[in-house]
Amino acid sequence: FMSIVAIVGRPNVGKSTFFNRLIQRREAIVDAVSGVTRDRHYGKSDWNGKEFSLIDTGGYVKGSEDVFEAEIDRQVELAIDEADAIIFMVEVESGVTGMDEDVAKLLRKSSKPVFLAVNKVDNGQREKDAVEFYSLGFERYYTISSINGSGSGDLLDDIVASL
Ligand code: GDP
Ligand code: MG
Repeated sequence: FMSIVAIVGRPNVGKSTFFNRLIQRREAIVDAVSGVTRDRHYGKSDWNGKEFSLIDTGGYVKGSEDVFEAEIDRQVELAIDEADAIIFMVEVESGVTGMDEDVAKLLRKSSKPVFLAVNKVDNGQREKDAVEFYSLGFERYYTISSINGSGSGDLLDDIVASL
């Protein structure tokens, strides 16, 4: 039995970029344009000698706002059901959005450990900007850059320790 780690969050926060860094084979497709339909992607990864399955959620359908939100909710519910740990990804460029708050609300009901990963923290100034995400109410708080890899070591250390 292999532990499952799911990455959830609204579109364009960098879930697939992070996923692609961690898995050996590049299966997920990174979209420059938001709202393109994609399936869930599964990959295998390991950290500190511990193997785990990683799920990149991103099957978001372009269409009405309702369908869009409902699909994100569905992915979050699936993650709560099947994952052993959840990475809740947000990003510092746009700050806290309404969609982030909706996802946070669902995740707060979960008994699974939730790791808040504030992505796109590519430099020191962004580190300061990121503190606003404490308002989402998750004590497992990490700042990362999926582009340059910074911060992901601390996040992964704590995730595999929880598995
Ligand atoms: P997803 O929709 O959550 O899967 O997001 P993607 O992985 O497709 O990334 C959306 C956009 O954000 C792409 O243009 C990425 O290159 C960009 N991106 C992802 N991670 C970072 C990061 O750490 N820093 C910056 N500056 N951009 C990033
Ligand atoms: Mg994606």
